[in-house]
Amino acid sequence: MRFQFLSRLAVSPTLRRAARAYKDAWKLFYFWPLPALRKSRFAKLGVDRREPLGVAEINLASECKCRHTSHYVPLTRETIRQLTASNGDTSTARLFGATAAVSELDTFADFDAWRVQVSRATSGKYHRSANKARRMGYSARVVGFNSCHRSVYELTGSKFRRSKGLPVWAALIAPPATLVDTKKPPVAPVCPEHWRYCWGAFKTTGAGEKLVASAILVRAGNTVWIQRFIGHGDALKDGVTKLLIFDIMQWLLARAEPGTQGIRYLLHGSIEEGDDGLFDWKRYLGFKPMLLDSAHAS
Ligand SMILES: [Zn+2]
Repeated sequence: MRFQFLSRLAVSPTLRRAARAYKDAWKLFYFWPLPALRKSRFAKLGVDRREPLGVAEINLASECKCRHTSHYVPLTRETIRQLTASNGDTSTARLFGATAAVSELDTFADFDAWRVQVSRATSGKYHRSANKARRMGYSARVVGFNSCHRSVYELTGSKFRRSKGLPVWAALIAPPATLVDTKKPPVAPVCPEHWRYCWGAFKTTGAGEKLVASAILVRAGNTVWIQRFIGHGDALKDGVTKLLIFDIMQWLLARAEPGTQGIRYLLHGSIEEGDDGLFDWKRYLGFKPMLLDSAHAS
């Protein structure tokens, strides 16, 4: 059951700030202590904790002076700041810091090389799952930024709890009436090195199409990171998230557009965050713990 009157409160900036603070605190303490999680997850990944981790040389701005650097560079810097805390030089960092989950895109010649690695890790399960979703009438494509606002709200609220453990407020609060799907078409980014792409997965039926999964990717310099990746609770069993990530990786690794060329790293949050389901998802997709060298991140 969702409450309409709460939707008026949900647009209050003060309440949104409070909700963000609550979310940050929750993320920190729900899965705490992080060192214990790190130990068990590194062991599952076969990472020897006595050996230094590989280092990702993040370069956010390179030589580019486009106006988008002022938006995507600070946004990315803020994200990686949360992920470099476990570089391990202080006990506070070890206790509260998280380790970046990174896929080194430049080590894959093409999408097929990536797919083979995922199929090996999952005994073909993820590939079959993506194909099953396709057969069932699901498809994925780039969509306009914020063009599916109301649908994203609906799919977010389709599960009361998600992999990060948080109660989902969209499951309790009805969407504000002002929240609509504009269905604006996507606009090609001005700069190939600084952009944000929104992806949507849809179920097509005789009655039209319905958004069932959504992802946002942000690029700054040589790094792309996943800002959002979420599926509708009812469509997860059909393999819709696998279809979406396969199509995104195919697009990234085809390197057919200027915006997908020159990418070295794909970041997907941290190794420690979320439940075991989220960790396994990253593990099977080949994300591994790395230190982030952000010396070039400004
Ligand atoms: Zn740029």
